[in-house]
Amino acid sequence: MRFDAIDAVLFDMDETLIYHTRSFKDIARESYERYAAELKPVTFEEYWTTLWGKATDLWFMMIDGVLPGEEARRYTFINTLRALDADPELGPRLIEHTDARMLESTHVMDDAFAVMNQMREAGLRLGIVTNGYSCIQRMKIDHHKLNGHVDFTIVSEEVGAHKPEPAIFDAAVAQAACKPERILFVGDTLENDFLGARNAGLEAVLIDHDATRADSPIEEGRYIRRLTELLPMLGLA
Ligand SMILES: [Mg+2]
Repeated sequence: MRFDAIDAVLFDMDETLIYHTRSFKDIARESYERYAAELKPVTFEEYWTTLWGKATDLWFMMIDGVLPGEEARRYTFINTLRALDADPELGPRLIEHTDARMLESTHVMDDAFAVMNQMREAGLRLGIVTNGYSCIQRMKIDHHKLNGHVDFTIVSEEVGAHKPEPAIFDAAVAQAACKPERILFVGDTLENDFLGARNAGLEAVLIDHDATRADSPIEEGRYIRRLTELLPMLGLA
């Protein structure tokens, strides 16, 4: 596939520009073990089941605009501790521990900066469009200094719309300052990224670093395994 009239490239962040080497559950287990003495007699399974339930509930409260993400995140941990009859004062330490482990376990894709630099040298406008809590996504953006490689970053909580909703793509189109059909969106999920972008009138490519979505129902030539594959598609290789 060759895209001949692209002025801007937008990237999803998680599992597109950066990858995680540990799951939330794996990190929760380490946090539980670190504070096991204070959490006793709660078992890890009880801690995890409760934490996951609260994480889901509070996530949707942020999505619905009932609570700011930072509060939703705080109460994910505080309400977990309360539900388990544990000390809610442990909440901030659990969050700090979780955040530190999460940052340690995220890494920039090997080819990301080189690909982005080459695109910018060619005059393309670049952006990041990511779903999530502002506090967490901004922490990752800052930690990996992604801001220095793109023209703008959009976190869904901040615009009150989340992929695949058209409103977040519209916000990105406005920042890209060009027509939607001249924007290429690159992301790793079919629904949120690929179909969301196509539905909003953007061009799109599905990236699949771990080769788990090779059978995705998408148009020929729009499936890639590595970011470098974008360069020839844009006539830059
Ligand atoms: Mg992603």
